[in-house]
Amino acid sequence: MVRTLFGLFISVFIFFIFSSFHSGNHPAAIKLRTIVIDPGHGGLYPGTRGLISAEKDVTLDISLKLGEAIKARFPNTKVVFTRTTDACVNNADNLHDDLHGRAQIANQAKGDLFISIHCNSTRQPAGGYYEKRVIGHKKKLVYVGKGSKKRKKWINAPIYESYWVKNTRVGTETYIWKAGKQENKNDAINEREESGEDVADSSSSAAAEEAFDLTSPEARMRATLYEKKYFDNSALFATMVEESFAAAGRQSYGVKQRDVGIQVLQATGMPSVLIEVGFLSNKEEEEYLNSNKGQDEVVENIVDALERYKNQVEGNVPVPPASAQDSIRQ
Ligand SMILES: [Zn+2]
Repeated sequence: MVRTLFGLFISVFIFFIFSSFHSGNHPAAIKLRTIVIDPGHGGLYPGTRGLISAEKDVTLDISLKLGEAIKARFPNTKVVFTRTTDACVNNADNLHDDLHGRAQIANQAKGDLFISIHCNSTRQPAGGYYEKRVIGHKKKLVYVGKGSKKRKKWINAPIYESYWVKNTRVGTETYIWKAGKQENKNDAINEREESGEDVADSSSSAAAEEAFDLTSPEARMRATLYEKKYFDNSALFATMVEESFAAAGRQSYGVKQRDVGIQVLQATGMPSVLIEVGFLSNKEEEEYLNSNKGQDEVVENIVDALERYKNQVEGNVPVPPASAQDSIRQ
């Protein structure tokens, strides 16, 4: 009896050891066969604008170079783009079709990873802006009242000075879809207000939100599927991307979760990230992102991260749950 129980215990133990490699959310069979690259915005939707460039053009340049670099480093990997020209996806004439088109291309290509490239903005005018400040006061004679009640009065009038405020914010951040609906939507909206980034085209973010109805049964099913199958991998790749930027000396704001404005990530049936490669609202970072040197560096940083990610998921190393990946900002 004891021996039987012991044998059973051993069998169960071996089963668990064995199954830990073959069960769970991340089966051993993950192969990065197809990578979908999504250059943010395009055509009717320029995204944010800097002093010398529009987001849609910078994201396209970097995306095309990223595709080339991936093919060069991983010749067996297929690269699919959601767009390769300055046009809306599938020549859509509205944001709804444009965003759905991106998800549709990714899903039809049976992508194993979806990488959306965007540029950030502080939502201040590009480069910087003038503000006024009070530098002193002076006595000033003014008239108050109307008609027969009109009289003179001395007031203390402020003296203003205009000064230039430069947009100094620079750096990168990578977004993943916020899995689980345990936190209410207000939190996500607050996060967006705080960080002020441009994820969806800010002028049409309401339309972008409408483009993906999150209350539909289909969207809920997708969210559950994403959480079970893709969330941990998305978090892992996003973390590696940000680590890669930080190692290259860029300011990294880390990995962030959202569920507003990035619904295209959840609509793709694969691990998905949205990389904000830098701020077009800062003059120097905009120049960097428009230069060959800057674009090549950004691409190399992402491909280095991709190599680490590929080695881990294809090498059957278990992906830690996102909750154990402490780089993720909740
Ligand atoms: Zn954008």
